Amino acid sequence: MTQPLVVCDWWKDPGRRFKLVPEKRIKHPPKPIELGFGSGVRYSRSLLAGLLQGGYEEVQPERIVRGEAQLQPYRPLEKYPDLALRFATVVRDTKSALEFVNTYGPLTEAGFKDGETVADILRHAATAKTLIGSAQRGDLFTVLGENGITMTAVKVEVVPGETAGKAIFQITANDLLTAICVQLGLYLCGDAKLKSCKRCAGPFLSGPGDGKLKADAVYCSVKCRTAANNDLKRERRLAKKGK
Ligand SMILES: [Zn+2]
Repeated sequence: MTQPLVVCDWWKDPGRRFKLVPEKRIKHPPKPIELGFGSGVRYSRSLLAGLLQGGYEEVQPERIVRGEAQLQPYRPLEKYPDLALRFATVVRDTKSALEFVNTYGPLTEAGFKDGETVADILRHAATAKTLIGSAQRGDLFTVLGENGITMTAVKVEVVPGETAGKAIFQITANDLLTAICVQLGLYLCGDAKLKSCKRCAGPFLSGPGDGKLKADAVYCSVKCRTAANNDLKRERRLAKKGK
């Protein structure tokens, strides 16, 4: 059967100019109740205090906003095959959420407009982490329930391929969160194992289902493997000199 092509067009800021807006509490003072007396009537403070209504405090949660960020288009699913894993394992607090958005862009359209709530980002990351953890332990459906989970909405299309007359079955993720969900879904159904890189400690997948790294891989990338080999060589050289 033909594998669907999963795409996501998204934006990030290479200048890393997304910024944090701390929680803001706005006090809307209570208003005196209109009593309907003439304008000449005066009330004592203590009497007024009992007649106030409608006072409330608005809480604008901590957000990550675009600010001066200059957006550059990219395709996250092609560029970062392990994006969902990075999201699930790296994002755990405000600082790491901001770091993630500055590296890969916000999760949803809101991130380009009024900003994305940090609490929402952390909630999504925690869910992804729970799902990956349960898949690793082999008890995914203890977490999901026997009916599984509807992860997200995507656009499904049949579009013209590069060869004339050939069509491509394409699934489009409308935002980064959806792209992460799609990646996560594929991972949860595969046999690949989640590991931590021996050099950079970053998460990576290896084994069947990934198709890129061998089952016994200990480094996340060629870059980390080469760097580790170079370190080893240098250590050996220094050890020789020391003798
Ligand atoms: Zn690494």
